[in-house]
Amino acid sequence: MNVRSVRFRITAWYASLLAGLLILFAVFIYFALEHFLEVNLRESLSRDAQTIGEALLKNVDETGEDYVIKEMEEHFAPRITSRFLRVTRSDGSILYQSGIPENHAFDPSHVAPEQLNSLRPWREEQMKGGGALLIHSNPYIGRTGKRFLIEAGAPYDEVESVLHELLFSLAIAFPLMLGIAVAGGYGIMRRLVRPLDEIATKAERITSRNLNERLPVKATGDEIEKLALSLNRMMGRLEESFHHINRFSADASHEIRTPLAIIRGELENALQAAEQAPEMRETVRSALEEAERLSRIVEQLLEISRLEAGETLVDRTRFDFSEMTRTTVEQMRLLAEEKHQQLTFDCARPSEIEGDHMRLKQIVVNLVDNAIKYTPEGGSILVSSFAIDGKVVLEVADTGLGVPSDASAHIFDRFYRVDKGRSRQLGGAGLGLAIVKSICTAYGGTIGLRQPDGPGIVFRVELPLHPSPNGERVPRSGG
Ligand code: ADP
Repeated sequence: MNVRSVRFRITAWYASLLAGLLILFAVFIYFALEHFLEVNLRESLSRDAQTIGEALLKNVDETGEDYVIKEMEEHFAPRITSRFLRVTRSDGSILYQSGIPENHAFDPSHVAPEQLNSLRPWREEQMKGGGALLIHSNPYIGRTGKRFLIEAGAPYDEVESVLHELLFSLAIAFPLMLGIAVAGGYGIMRRLVRPLDEIATKAERITSRNLNERLPVKATGDEIEKLALSLNRMMGRLEESFHHINRFSADASHEIRTPLAIIRGELENALQAAEQAPEMRETVRSALEEAERLSRIVEQLLEISRLEAGETLVDRTRFDFSEMTRTTVEQMRLLAEEKHQQLTFDCARPSEIEGDHMRLKQIVVNLVDNAIKYTPEGGSILVSSFAIDGKVVLEVADTGLGVPSDASAHIFDRFYRVDKGRSRQLGGAGLGLAIVKSICTAYGGTIGLRQPDGPGIVFRVELPLHPSPNGERVPRSGG
């Protein structure tokens, strides 16, 4: 479980808030109930004392004390109701005192007599068993003027046991309520943030190549719908800017092509003119070389622009990738032989692929060309091609200069060269690998490099046997 997720955090906040409110509620209920029970107990004791006075002691001279004793036993049943009742005459002698209750909650004989001259209407007597007895004392004067002290008491435990039961019930009910609320809340949060997860997953998959795709929008009218719509609008603007940039690069390259071709033509004519001085001839040759280099760069830039604009899988045919690699390697063998390099092609089986023959051939040409360029004389180059797990793999390994580890992160960037001076001498502008990468991406494939055990570098291209629909976009770039 991700504890930093919105889901978890909101649920945790909500659970703590609920727990806090439940505790507050429990405290309130506890004290309110305690107050209510105590008031109730006091009212009941004071009512008992009044009843004893008014109903039994008022006419005690006529009814006799035995009648009072009998009535108190029958009417109040103090043994069963755990009541303490005592009627004391004015001389301190006891007219009636209830016995030990059935539950042995207290012993009435241990309750000290109350003095009439220092009477406390309410008092608490501590019992031997640890409990307390709440006693109400009520002086009473009968019709004939006889004075009595009526005491009515009850164990305070009655209140406490109800409160304990309340606490016990709350201790069971609250965790249960909290558990149900948290589980319910977590479930609701999960449902609420699921669209956000979907948006994040989809957004992860959107790159500059499939900017035409949009995030899923559910018409719920909530903030998530608003977010998805805003992101979609933002992607629309990004798509437009990307097209604008690509269009500009493609248009600029296209426009530069023609004047460059004219310059090259003119320079070639000038070179053929016989009457030129040798220095002039050298200057023209150098200018022609630079113009040719410029032409190559413009062609490559145009190519990258087209690839990035999505004009990739226009010509789709089925062909044997391994066979195409073999013939390409053969065509380039002369270049390797010039440098006395050993160029080997290794392929076990044919690997059929669907795609643009010319584009895919370019991957092989660029990689093998680099291997030849950046491997010193006498080195060796091994090109292998095989199919594995629904992919065609092309590996070009050389024993050349290799690529420093800090350069490998940028090697596929446009115009990136490890050693600018040397690459320029070799005629490179740092666009070859950028083109290879663009073709691979257009085909839903990948390119990477790794350091072999010995000197040199290994480039590995992986292309899906059946290119993804990613590349099947309508070409936007003209020219
Ligand atoms: P360039 O046209 O300059 O060769 P690339 O895009 O093909 O441009 O390559 C970019 C840079 O990567 C090169 O300048 C070179 O430094 C390095 N590089 C490419 N292939 C190899 C290789 N097989 N061995 C060593 N370095 C390489």
